[in-house]
Amino acid sequence: MNTMLSELTTMRLGGPAKAYEVVTTTDDLVSVVREADSAGQPVLLVGGGSNLVVGDQGFDGLVVRVASDGIRIDDEGMTLAAGVHWDTAVRLSLEAGMAGLETLSGIPGSAGGTPVQNVGAYGSLTSEFLESVTVFDRHRNVVEVWGPEQCGFGSHRQSVFKHSRRYVVLELRLRLAKDVMSRPIKYDKLAEVLGVPVGTAAGAREVREAVLQLRTARGMVLDTDDHDTWSVGSFFINPVLPQVPEQAAECPQYADPAGTKLSAAWLIDNAGFAPGYGRDWGRGTVGLSSKHALAVTNRGGATTAEVMSFAAHIRDGVEEVFGVRLGPECDLVNCQFDGTPQSVSS
Ligand SMILES: Cc1cc2nc3c(=O)[nH]c(=O)nc-3n(C[C@H](O)[C@H](O)[C@H](O)COP(=O)(O)OP(=O)(O)OC[C@H]3O[C@@H](n4cnc5c(N)ncnc54)[C@H](O)[C@@H]3O)c2cc1C
Repeated sequence: MNTMLSELTTMRLGGPAKAYEVVTTTDDLVSVVREADSAGQPVLLVGGGSNLVVGDQGFDGLVVRVASDGIRIDDEGMTLAAGVHWDTAVRLSLEAGMAGLETLSGIPGSAGGTPVQNVGAYGSLTSEFLESVTVFDRHRNVVEVWGPEQCGFGSHRQSVFKHSRRYVVLELRLRLAKDVMSRPIKYDKLAEVLGVPVGTAAGAREVREAVLQLRTARGMVLDTDDHDTWSVGSFFINPVLPQVPEQAAECPQYADPAGTKLSAAWLIDNAGFAPGYGRDWGRGTVGLSSKHALAVTNRGGATTAEVMSFAAHIRDGVEEVFGVRLGPECDLVNCQFDGTPQSVSS
């Protein structure tokens, strides 16, 4: 029987994969993708499936589950194969007395998935630690080591890897500090839990525990028994606009290289879609997380079509009230809610 994408994704959505392979080494990852390319077979890479929504018809090609293993920690940082579980790497780095990644604790998915949307949380971004990325360029059929400046990080959650299937991330090299203290804490709530003023450091391992506590309370740590975590984290991206519409003037605003970034969670909540909204919508299989308005969740038995139409309903409601059109933060494969970017399928 074909493997279902719903078994590989945290939102538990997506139909069958025409073909499926699990790769456990970097060399195999390159050769499996190379072979598929020379056979003209479309490829979909899946790490932890925590930022991926696949259509009910599935994927008409080869789904490659990236499970390449290998963590090396030294005095200057850490080298990770793409398939390494991200949060395990964060925990091991802290246990080895290396600081830096503490606020990126509890984020689901693989190491290889982190540069794709320049994963970030509590004031830190992956790109701040990235020394190099080993990349397989499928168009030029070469493996290269890139510096962070080649990755196209810039505006919010962007990179050259996102919404492209051209590059396979094989390995990351992260630069970390040999330190037991964290970087200065930037977030009020995190500082509050730690009992330190914003802008000061705390024990890096205590910061990890505090972050996990805050994330768990917001349904942002995976838990099979909690449908609030059957999500892709933030479904909608914080919109970056050249000009903020008058109706949205009260929304929290942040400077961004591409304009002004608005809080999608605030817009959703203040357009009348509070956390937990949607339980009586359709068949009751989708809804916003009861802990976070930005997370669209599968309450059990949802189809991708239902999730797309629920997401469109939220997007339209926000646009009606604030004149701001939300787009997805996650990768939509063989599904879309009109006009939103969709990855190419090969
Ligand atoms: C509960 C929850 C909380 C979350 N919290 C956060 C958060 O705080 N901050 C944040 O930024 N994100 C967050 N996310 C989103 C997600 O965890 C991250 O984007 C994560 O890095 C995705 O990694 P993954 O391995 O699961 O990628 P997948 O979902 O498997 O894939 C995502 C995309 O990357 C591509 N891809 C995967 N592996 C590779 C590779 N090796 N090379 C090239 N392309 C690849 C896939 O083809 C797909 O296009 C959260 C998600 C969930 C479910």
